[in-house]
Parts: sequence; C-alpha cells; structure tokens
Amino acid sequence: MDFPSRPQPPLPVGVSACLTGAAVRYDGADAASSLPARELRGLVRLCGLCPEVGIGMGTPRPPIRLVGDSNSPRALRVDRPEVDVTDALSAFADAQNSFLEGVFGFIFMERSPSCGLSSVKVRAEVQGGPLRLDGRGVFARRVVESRPHLPVEESRRLWDPAQRDAFLTRIATFAHWHRLLDAGLTRLRLLEFHARHKYLLMAHSPVHYRRCGQLLSDLRGDFGAKGEGYFASLMEGLRRPATAAGHGNALAHMQGYFRGRLTKPEAARLAHVVERCRLGAASLDDARVLMLELLERHPHPYLQKQIYLERMPTPEA
Ligand code: SF4
Repeated sequence: MDFPSRPQPPLPVGVSACLTGAAVRYDGADAASSLPARELRGLVRLCGLCPEVGIGMGTPRPPIRLVGDSNSPRALRVDRPEVDVTDALSAFADAQNSFLEGVFGFIFMERSPSCGLSSVKVRAEVQGGPLRLDGRGVFARRVVESRPHLPVEESRRLWDPAQRDAFLTRIATFAHWHRLLDAGLTRLRLLEFHARHKYLLMAHSPVHYRRCGQLLSDLRGDFGAKGEGYFASLMEGLRRPATAAGHGNALAHMQGYFRGRLTKPEAARLAHVVERCRLGAASLDDARVLMLELLERHPHPYLQKQIYLERMPTPEA
C-alpha cells in the first residue's frame, strides 16, 4: 500500500505578526521577545498576520479592550467605547480562509483582545464593573471556532519544552493527516495511520488511545464521518502533554514486542531505560536511541513504523 510520508519541517504556521518582530502593536512596538524564536528556528515557517492592522486600524492606533460577557465580549476602543470593532475582527478571520488552509498551526500573542487564546481581560461594563481574566480574543475565537482541529498555542506556553514538543507534534500530525486526505482516505490508509500513531497517542493519553481504537473497530456506515471523528479524538488526545508516566506506559507496551528476541544484557538494558523514563530520570530520546539500536539487530516492522520512535527534529543553530 502506498502511504503518504510524514511531512518534514519546516512546516508553515500562522502567527500573530507582532511576534515575528513586525512593529504592528497599538503602540508601534513589536512583541518578538514573547516568542521562543530560536527554539523554533527551522522547525516551523512563521507566516505573520495582524488582524487589527488587517481591519485598517493602522499603527500606532488607539488600544481596544474586551467588554461584556466573557463568552461573547465586544472589542471596544478604550478612548471611544462607541467604536466597536468586534464584527470587523470576526469578518477578517472569516476572510482568511486561504491563509488558514495553507498553515498547519497558529501561534497567538497572549493577553491580546484580538489574538489572546485564554486569560484575556474582560470588563463587565464600559465604566467599571468586575474585571475577569477568562476571555479570548475576538480573532483567535473565530479562528478556533472555524478550524477546531488546527493546532493552536499561545506564544508564552511555547517557552515550556514539553508544551512546545506537544505543539510541534500536533502540527506534524495535522499536516500528515492532510497529506493523507489529499491522497484519498481509504479504510486501509486510515488503519495504517492509526497503527503508526498508536504509541505516540498512548504516551499522550491512554483514554484517547482506547477511544480511537474503538472508533476504528467498526468502520461500517459513513466512512467520512468516522474518519473525521477519529482525527478529532486523536488531536484532542495529543493536546495533553505526555508525562513521564505516559512515556513509561507506552515504552513498556513496546518493550513487550521484544520479549524472547533480546539477549539477557539487552533485555536488562532496555528494562532499565524504560523504568528510568517512567520515573522521569531518563529522556524519551534515551529510550528511542536504545530501541532503534535494538531494532537494527532485531527488526520488527510494526515497531519500526511507529512515529513515536522518530526523534523530535531539533532547531537550527
Ligand atoms: S496581538 Fe494580534 S492584533 Fe495585536 S499587534 Fe499582535 S498581531 Fe496585531
């Protein structure tokens, strides 16, 4: 069976333009220092977009803020609250179809009334009232609503290596899935896709691992809907960062495939590394390197096709 390969970095990713160093903030500054650009270099290709500039607000410009209910706030100018740009920002997001179809993820600037994904300030009323910190920027909200599976993250969370790895993993998985759709989703390709992602998903979320398996156990009926449901569940599972215990669990399952194949010293070495990974005392890469070394001596086609064993690409120097 011909099976589309996993796309290699750098993959195109949308980003709030101020994070790329563009001086588009309301005060004429940029926000490049909020993005771990060095850690992402060569892994993603940043495609900047500024919704406030996009709707013609110019730079510099009067700032806006969110007012009203946290679930559906309005974006109003601070100095002239009668100027409401909510609908313009939403319409701008809707007009970015071709841009969003060309990217495999989106990095948003935190706390922005347009781009913030979470914890954005929302005032209950124009004049005073309680201040909440549970809002979402108008542009970000619309992007997420229109593309629920698109991997999205706020720039500040990408400073955390575990969050960054999880985000990059979701981007690569999202791109791979779309390559699969382009090639034509067949029953065989769907099952093969799942087979390759099994231990990656298990490390992130055993619950979603089981759910995906159940979804694929009966592919009768609307195949397109089943494929969509499977992918939604896979992406939901991958949103959970893999913990040491998660890696330990996935590696222990993989270790089972080596039973009866290894020499005693090899088996002891593998058991030692898997246990250290489970305890967080060894990195996943330590286990990957050892498993790949063992697979060279003791090939196992099922393990060898696991995405989980592919090393995370490293940033360019
Ligand atoms: S946060 Fe969004 S709207 Fe604000 S300057 Fe950056 S890209 Fe533009």
